[in-house]
Amino acid sequence: MGNVHYKGIVIREVNTGEADKIVTVLTAEEGKISVAAKNARRPKNSLGGGTQLLCFSDYMLFKGKELYNMSCCEVIEPNYEIRNDIYKLTYSSHILDLISDNVQEGEPSEDILKLLLNTLYVISKTDRSLELITRVFELRLMALLGYEPQVSGCINCNSIQDENMYFDLDNSGIVCKECVNPNGRVIPLLPGTVKALKYIMKISPQKLFSFTLSQESVKELGIIAKGYIKEHLGKEYNKLDYLKQLM
Ligand SMILES: [Zn+2]
Repeated sequence: MGNVHYKGIVIREVNTGEADKIVTVLTAEEGKISVAAKNARRPKNSLGGGTQLLCFSDYMLFKGKELYNMSCCEVIEPNYEIRNDIYKLTYSSHILDLISDNVQEGEPSEDILKLLLNTLYVISKTDRSLELITRVFELRLMALLGYEPQVSGCINCNSIQDENMYFDLDNSGIVCKECVNPNGRVIPLLPGTVKALKYIMKISPQKLFSFTLSQESVKELGIIAKGYIKEHLGKEYNKLDYLKQLM
């Protein structure tokens, strides 16, 4: 049982024993891993920083019988701006729930880790719309999980216009006015929403968040993402509804 040297983000933390913690870390090499951090909750313990939720760190780990054990860690990005803002924190918790439920243990997850790092960076360091950032994350995550919707053109006739298109939840893609099934589960789309969907699915990770969108289109992306996630992941994620009570 040797040591490994991984970088990762803490996506879940549980207190155990008198002063210990078990954290779930998303890594490129093995997807989700569980790591015991002994004494991490003692004041001034060297594992304290790197075992905080949302923290991106460099870890030295050794494999025990069931879990990894943390021998040391060096914090790269604490993302503390998120923990100090109830809105940023709630959106980020929703994002971590999606990752935690749907990324497997032992499965290399380099692209998903990059997506999470990029997303948390934009949430942490900018004042961009949290709703838009989250919708972009959700849709791109669905693609990385193997559920990429077909949005380059109408799923039936391939026509590529942005006007008069619908999102078809039954067939996981966009469909034109001529081909749409009026009795299906379809969402009419503004041209801006169609453009955004195409952008989110095709653009390089570095440019993923480099666009703006009207509030109406952000709303449409929200309806699509919610329906699409429920359809493919079999679960509704309602944590963000809590924010409506605060607004
Ligand atoms: Zn068509």
